[in-house]
Amino acid sequence: MAQAQFTTHHGMVDILPDEARKWQHIESVIRQTAREFHFGEIRTPVLEQTGLIARGVGELTDIVSKEMFAFQRGDDQYVLRPEGTAPVARSFVQHRLEQRGGVQKLFYIGPMFRAERPQKGRQRQFHQFGAEMLGSADPMADAEIIAFMATVYRKLGITNTVLKINSVGDPASRKAYKEALQNFFEPHQCHLSNVSKTRLTQNPMRILDSKEEEDQPLIEDAPVITDYLSEESLAHYTAVKRHLDALGIAYQETPRLVRGLDYYTRTAFELTSPDLGAQDALGGGGRYDLLIEEVGGQPTPAVGFASGMERLLIACEALGIPLGEASQLDVYMVTRGEEARNWALQHAPLLREKGLSVAMDYAGRSIKAQMKEANREQARFAVIAGDSELESGLFTLRDMAESTETALSFDEIRTKITPTLN
Ligand code: AMP
Repeated sequence: MAQAQFTTHHGMVDILPDEARKWQHIESVIRQTAREFHFGEIRTPVLEQTGLIARGVGELTDIVSKEMFAFQRGDDQYVLRPEGTAPVARSFVQHRLEQRGGVQKLFYIGPMFRAERPQKGRQRQFHQFGAEMLGSADPMADAEIIAFMATVYRKLGITNTVLKINSVGDPASRKAYKEALQNFFEPHQCHLSNVSKTRLTQNPMRILDSKEEEDQPLIEDAPVITDYLSEESLAHYTAVKRHLDALGIAYQETPRLVRGLDYYTRTAFELTSPDLGAQDALGGGGRYDLLIEEVGGQPTPAVGFASGMERLLIACEALGIPLGEASQLDVYMVTRGEEARNWALQHAPLLREKGLSVAMDYAGRSIKAQMKEANREQARFAVIAGDSELESGLFTLRDMAESTETALSFDEIRTKITPTLN
């Protein structure tokens, strides 16, 4: 076989029809869930201004420091969006969505890009679905967002997940907590990994995110943020848990689940699956009451989640959950001769108008070859047409499963075959 001259970039994959069917199925479950929760879809561009993603200085995130696909063209700095929340926040501010009144409830599905080292469950172009609720500080909003995410997994039959939750408090709680962490880690600096050493001065909360083996013993003994929450944040956290209890959504309180960035506030959560291996997060999210202001809007409380589509597919595969049956071909038009081929081309639209799927031969192959293809495509019916059929106006309708044949006019065929529901 010839070696392909061009291939996809490392960490970027083609989604071929057999696979795409599964995606369509998952997407329809997400869209249906969005409808039930009454969230509207938002589609933002894949390219954003780099400044939106790399906001401010001193943000020591992996995304900003090394994971962006960014380029310059003319005077403009472009970045392939690494996530969906900042673009949604940008769009909210740009279009003054708050003027539409009430709480804005938006969901999205689309590709994201991060120049990470690819491995199972981690790609450079991957896909997320997510939802954001902008304009509510109420703990019920947090519970609804979590319920939205949980519902998608439940509907698909992924039930062996763990929902981890925590509160990262407000800026005052976090200031006190950061100091506590600094005081705790500083005397043990020499035992920390190099990455964590840098984080110690820049953002000690991110040490808790560290995957480095050597950091783990210290992380286990580190102070927890829940001991540093302000009264309001504690009340908010308690209410979120109460709402989750009322919704029957199980959770595991995980005091070391933190988000390092300053615009995150209060609720943080993550949904993990034992079926994913090292990259075990299906999705995550939380409250980001300070983000809208950070991207130039009026202070607006907000909460959201983002989930990985590829990891959702891996989990379905591991659990043997079937996704998306192949759509059945209704009719294969088998033809002999040029005239019959023209007839098929012109009559296929009349069948398609009825919602039937119709395929035909494009290569002038023998009837035998065409029948073989009709079989391979699992066509329900073959309509066989040659010179004599055109002359008589009666065509052979073959029921492929029953192996029976009837001679019928085209109108009779058109009336007889009704689309299958798939
Ligand atoms: P994050 O925006 O980092 O909180 O990621 C949210 C979810 O997106 C994760 O829980 C994963 O399911 C998924 N995800 C993040 N990065 C990748 C990646 N590089 N490849 C595949 N999925 C990813």
